[in-house]
Amino acid sequence: MARQPVSSAPLAAKWRKLAEQRCIEKGERLTPARLAVYAEMLTRDRPVSAYELIGLLEQRQKRKIAPLTVYRHLDFLIRIGLVHRLQSAQTYLPCGHPDHAHESQFLLCSSCGHVDEVESRGVERLLSRIADEHGFRADKAVVEVKGLCGACAAVEPG
Ligand SMILES: [Zn+2]
Ligand SMILES: [Zn+2]
Repeated sequence: MARQPVSSAPLAAKWRKLAEQRCIEKGERLTPARLAVYAEMLTRDRPVSAYELIGLLEQRQKRKIAPLTVYRHLDFLIRIGLVHRLQSAQTYLPCGHPDHAHESQFLLCSSCGHVDEVESRGVERLLSRIADEHGFRADKAVVEVKGLCGACAAVEPG
């Protein structure tokens, strides 16, 4: 599902509600600082690096922010399933469907930076069958496909 960027803080009610639900399910608390990090990410239409995010937060809050704090909040948001970390790009992306736990695969556009998060049961089944065939106990699969999104592919001759 493609997630449309939320225009700005205050965070759109729908996403805030989903975030609160995730925290309740996990027995965690959505502190104002954690929420601020999540809200900032939702205003972007593409993944951000930790350093970009720190810059954005400092701009909005008009004060210095310790990088370690932001990393801690990001770890929290990942743990409760609100944010995904893109391993290949080392960037962070708000989950497109935080209403349920899931494995996702990502389509990364190398031209415009857009990322589509997809949930393919077929890919999950295939990977777990391959692991089974090797007697491998899979823990986590990272599937990130690089290329051009539909819009960019349309203007760039293949
Ligand atoms: Zn997700
Ligand atoms: Zn693109």
